[in-house]
Formats: sequence, structure tokens, C-alpha cells
Amino acid sequence: MTDPLKDKSYDVAIIGAGPAGLAAALELKKTGIERVIVLERESEAGGIPRHCGHPPFGIREYKRVLTGPSYAKKLVETAQKNQIDIALKHTVTKLEPQGVLTVVAPEGTFKLTAKRVLLATGTRETPRSARLVSGDRALGICNTGTLQSMFYLQKMVPFHRPVIIGTEIVSFSALSTCKKAGIHPVAMVEEKSRPTVRWPIYYAANFYKVPLLVSTQIEKIIGDDRVTAVLLKDKNGNIRELACDGILFTGQFTPESTLARISHLKLDDATDSPIIDQFGRCSDPTYYSAGNVQQYHAAGGHSAHVPIYYTAGNLPQPVDVAGQCWQEGCVTAGWIAKDLSGKLP
Ligand SMILES: Cc1cc2nc3c(=O)[nH]c(=O)nc-3n(C[C@H](O)[C@H](O)[C@H](O)COP(=O)(O)OP(=O)(O)OC[C@H]3O[C@@H](n4cnc5c(N)ncnc54)[C@H](O)[C@@H]3O)c2cc1C
Repeated sequence: MTDPLKDKSYDVAIIGAGPAGLAAALELKKTGIERVIVLERESEAGGIPRHCGHPPFGIREYKRVLTGPSYAKKLVETAQKNQIDIALKHTVTKLEPQGVLTVVAPEGTFKLTAKRVLLATGTRETPRSARLVSGDRALGICNTGTLQSMFYLQKMVPFHRPVIIGTEIVSFSALSTCKKAGIHPVAMVEEKSRPTVRWPIYYAANFYKVPLLVSTQIEKIIGDDRVTAVLLKDKNGNIRELACDGILFTGQFTPESTLARISHLKLDDATDSPIIDQFGRCSDPTYYSAGNVQQYHAAGGHSAHVPIYYTAGNLPQPVDVAGQCWQEGCVTAGWIAKDLSGKLP
């Protein structure tokens, strides 16, 4: 993986070395497309699973139950075995027509051209700022992804007695990370009248002895330097103060589509993902999109993209498990290969 960018012109450039991007690169190699580059802004490849120190990952791909880091390692080792070029610490900052990308790397900023570009930049949980929660800007507020990277990658913890906001599947990951890190959440708070995913939250909250407060919302964060309490409001409008030293905002995933938003590509108003056709092709047909950056949208969804996390109201949520993103990367790479050989309608 040293000096992968001997060249600045490729058949396919893939942005993001998570499950979707790495699966696509492998599939492209298998179909005989040699000049493929994966651009990754982090110093290690593997995407989100790198810091999910819990199972289950890899069932679909490797027929085994792996933890996130073991799964990410396997993805990267497979890529290495197949001589896939991965350029680490390479952040794509601009997309232009004709597959022209601006890349910021340790050696400087440069342009790279590819016949086709695959966006596989993933998704992220909504941070406190975008949730419009009032109160102090104190230390001790983060998302599950941040907690996991702090704990699993840096062996640090941001708090000891947080309140967990949200009850999606990822909130279960948050609970189990807290357990592993010796963190004791004081409550799990859900605005709706029941958890978003009923199982495993009921079970997990009981098991970890964390009170589950439904029909409750966070009103205000209190704390000068770091969080000392939250004000919670129940459905009758009663407000109570709960002492804690942190807030863990979980879920409410939004696609990592900033790059597409500031480009010439058209975005779907409802999901904020690039608009794609049944082949995963964007409004500029040089560009494709796969994995969790591509949220489900009712009109013209991706053939391989089936959302599996549902809300209580059965609305599709914008996050797929890693195996689905991996599969979507494979399928989309197949379309790209067809396109390059002139066989795609
Ligand atoms: C807390 C948490 C727990 C989870 N637990 C599970 C689980 O137990 N089992 C499971 O199957 N799934 C789980 N998931 C879901 C799974 O991790 C994701 O579905 C999967 O990682 C998505 O793959 P992806 O390739 O689309 O994106 P990602 O894995 O997010 O990878 C995207 C990559 O793109 C890179 N990138 C983004 N923008 C740029 C740019 N401009 N330039 C260069 N690189 C860029 C990012 O650095 C990242 O490496 C979990 C997710 C979270 C957040």
C-alpha cells in the first residue's frame, strides 16, 4: 500500500475504504479492471467496523461471526492479497464533471481523473448541534461512533455516567460499548412511546440495569466545563433534572454526502443522498454511489439496497448493516464494469 498514486489517471476511483468501497474494488479487480484506486481519508482502511468492537459482522461475506475490527482487518487483508491500491490519508474534497477529483494528501493537493467514480463515503449519526438541543456547550457530549473510536482505538472514555439518547439498533451497540468500557449509563431516553427497535433494547436495557424512559425528551443540557445534568420532559410536560456526566446521542443517521452536495450531482431532497438509477448511477453517469451514503428512497431505489433497520412506524431508516453495504459494493462494481465495456443501457 505504499505510494499507490504513481499515476493520476484511473479506470475507477473509489472514495471510501469501508465495506462498500473495498468490496467494489475487489469485484472490479475480479472482472479484470486493473486501474482501480481506493481513496481513504483515515490512516487505516476498513471504515466504521474498525471501531465497532462487538459482533456481529462478516456472516454474509465470510460465513463467520466476527467483531468489527476483525472484520475490517479481513476486508483489508483480502484487498491487499488482491493487490488493490488503497491511498490512505487521502481526502477527496471536490467532485467535478468528467470524473475529476480534488484530493488532499500529506504530500499536497492534486487532481486525479477516473473514467468512473464510486462514492462509498458511508453515513454518520446526527450530532448534538444538528439536533437543536439547548443548553450549555459542555464537555462529555458525543455520538456512538465517537465513543467507540475513543474506547476501542484510543482506550479513553469521555464520561462515566451518561444519559443515552435514542433506542435504535446502534443504541444497543452504545449500551454494550458502555458495558465493556466500565461506563454506567443513568438512563436511556426515547421521545416515542416505545423503543425504536423493541428487541434488543428492552432486553439490553434490563440486562445492563439502565432505566428506559419512553415518551421523554431532552430539554436542556446543564454544565459549565463538563456536563453535570440534563433536564428531561415527559409527555405531560413535567420537567425533571437528572444528574449525569455526559450525553450519548445515538442514531438518526444521515448520509456522509457533503462531497456530493457541494458538487454538480443531484441529491434526493428527502434523504440527502445522491439520486441514482437502478444501476447505482448518479445524475452525472460518470459517478456511482453505494453503501450507506446511499439511503433508501422510494422512487428509483438501488436494486441491491434494501433497508433493514425500521422505526416503530415501519419507516425505512438510512442505515444498512455492513454485509449489505458490502453486497451493494459488489453489485454496483458489476454495473460499473459493464458500463466501462459499453454494455450498460
Ligand atoms: C456505532 C455503529 C455500530 C454498528 N454495528 C454494526 C454491527 O454490529 N453489525 C453490522 O453489520 N453493522 C454495524 N454497523 C453498520 C456498519 O458499520 C455500516 O453499515 C458499514 O460500515 C457501512 O459501510 P460503508 O462502506 O457504506 O461506509 P463506512 O464504513 O462508513 O466507510 C466509509 C469510508 O469513507 C471514508 N470517507 C468518507 N468521506 C471521505 C472523503 N471525502 N474522502 C476519502 N474518504 C472518505 C470514511 O473515512 C470511511 O472509512 C454499525 C454502525 C455504527 C455507526
